[in-house]
Amino acid sequence: MPQNWAGSHTYEAARIVSVRSRDDLVAALATPGRVHALGTRHSFTDLPDTDGTLIEMSTWVPPVVIEGDTVRVGAGTRYAVLAAQLEDAGRALHNTGSLPHINVGGATATGTHGSGDRNGVLTTAVRALTFADAAGTFHTVRREDADFAALAVGVGAFGVVTELELETQPTYRVRQDIYAGVSWGAILDDVDAVTTAGDSVSVFTRWDDNSIVWIKKRVADDAEQPVGTLLDGVLADHELSPLGTGDNVTPLGVPGVWYQRLPHFRADREPSYGDEIQSEYFIDRTHAAAALAAIRAIADGFREHLNVTELRTAAADDLWLSGAYQRESFIIHFTWLNHPEQVREALVGIEAALAPFDARPHWGKLHLFDRERLEAVVPRLAEARAVYERIDPDGRFVNDHLVRVGLREAR
Ligand SMILES: Cc1cc2nc3c(=O)[nH]c(=O)nc-3n(C[C@H](O)[C@H](O)[C@H](O)COP(=O)(O)OP(=O)(O)OC[C@H]3O[C@@H](n4cnc5c(N)ncnc54)[C@H](O)[C@@H]3O)c2cc1C
Repeated sequence: MPQNWAGSHTYEAARIVSVRSRDDLVAALATPGRVHALGTRHSFTDLPDTDGTLIEMSTWVPPVVIEGDTVRVGAGTRYAVLAAQLEDAGRALHNTGSLPHINVGGATATGTHGSGDRNGVLTTAVRALTFADAAGTFHTVRREDADFAALAVGVGAFGVVTELELETQPTYRVRQDIYAGVSWGAILDDVDAVTTAGDSVSVFTRWDDNSIVWIKKRVADDAEQPVGTLLDGVLADHELSPLGTGDNVTPLGVPGVWYQRLPHFRADREPSYGDEIQSEYFIDRTHAAAALAAIRAIADGFREHLNVTELRTAAADDLWLSGAYQRESFIIHFTWLNHPEQVREALVGIEAALAPFDARPHWGKLHLFDRERLEAVVPRLAEARAVYERIDPDGRFVNDHLVRVGLREAR
């Protein structure tokens, strides 16, 4: 059977059906047995899997419709495709994730995020979504509707999202620079000084003493120059690649259009490292320094299995399953080597270290949380589950993962 992008999960579905139209989707939903939406396969676990039919949405790319400050886009459309058309129309999104390869449906379904104290997760741009239920009936839910907060980050638990209406803004340009040699002492003393140093800030660390800080800043004038220092770090040579394989990172030190600078990775290259596992946790940003100290204390135990950690931020929102639900968030990410056993062992220690801070895991990445532990940190989990049970009473979108994490009831 086919695998996810990272090769860390082999799908167990009986079949994968690639849909190209509404009719194809209705036919796929009519297949007996369970069904589940599949995006571009960039999540790291069995989250999208099913014992029935996986419905691949990235083959269905209807025309993008840009009107005023909104865009209507097919769920299977990749951000790279959407962004280029928005730019042609003089429009932009508020933020992007680290890669433009993922599709809008899969990214918004898991609360995918970029960075920035004032930037909500990507799902916060959604004004309305249209989905097909198990019977192949289509429904549109708008931001002001009662179920919206449960469905926007909906991890494929209730239906197949076919179209999203996203908020846009006038296009803008971004410059990105990196600062090397920033010490842990300086970061822990003043986390805010780091996260406010740009519109989107990422700290890359292997939990040893020196970190690299990657700053993305909107520029009104391409001639604007970056400051020479950040805390005890210095502006670094643009040849120094902060992550990835080296040639897959978007241009540093040269201003450019938003969608070619906000993602870390270029659309025309494979992102990140490839053979890897990712994990990520959201905490209230007021706990950032304490949580970092707690993980740093155990880092010698997991460093050999780690490619790199990335630290980011996100603005609070009201989407029930968003990692940033009602919390200004600090987000701690791990790109692991593809060492499943050792990574699971490391996660036991990391999740214990983060427990005092009520960490919430990223839905699309590897974590060890079960229903009970999630109910303690995701305040609206039971209510979200009730909405999904109401929309899909026969449980056709139920899978093992969703039962394990308490987003669906077992059948
Ligand atoms: C190299 C790399 C870098 C990443 N960087 C980031 C990052 O910067 N920030 C971040 O937050 N995450 C990041 N991720 C994680 C990624 O954004 C999420 O896992 C996201 O869900 C991927 O979207 P997908 O379409 O590939 O999802 P899939 O793995 O295909 O599906 C994920 C979930 O979305 C559901 N879904 C997909 N399409 C639909 C639909 N049309 N209707 C209903 N449900 C649907 C699926 O059922 C499943 O539950 C990264 C992943 C990789 C591999």
